Amino acid sequence: MTFESTPEQLNPESGSAQAAQAGCPCSEANEHVWNYLDGELSEQDCSRIKEHLAVCKECRDQYESEQSLKEAVSRSCGCDEVPITLRAEISVLVARLRNQSCN
Ligand SMILES: [Zn+2]
Repeated sequence: MTFESTPEQLNPESGSAQAAQAGCPCSEANEHVWNYLDGELSEQDCSRIKEHLAVCKECRDQYESEQSLKEAVSRSCGCDEVPITLRAEISVLVARLRNQSCN
């Protein structure tokens, strides 16, 4: 008889980041973080992301770095829109971060 209890992520401070690959809430948050920054999310999605950012330090860090990046970009080009090329580059970085935090 084998009974294995699989420990959930009960200790977010452990930094082990052993989130389940499927249905990782971080993936969703990361996916929507740009829209969230751009204010393009519905109120419902917006509050869901906000809730996740409140409890997940990794996503909050990422959100804050993207926010400051966005601010830096809009300062330097004098507009609110992030250039599509830069955005593509950032997506690659985000995807890499996502793999790190959700593997
Ligand atoms: Zn997260």
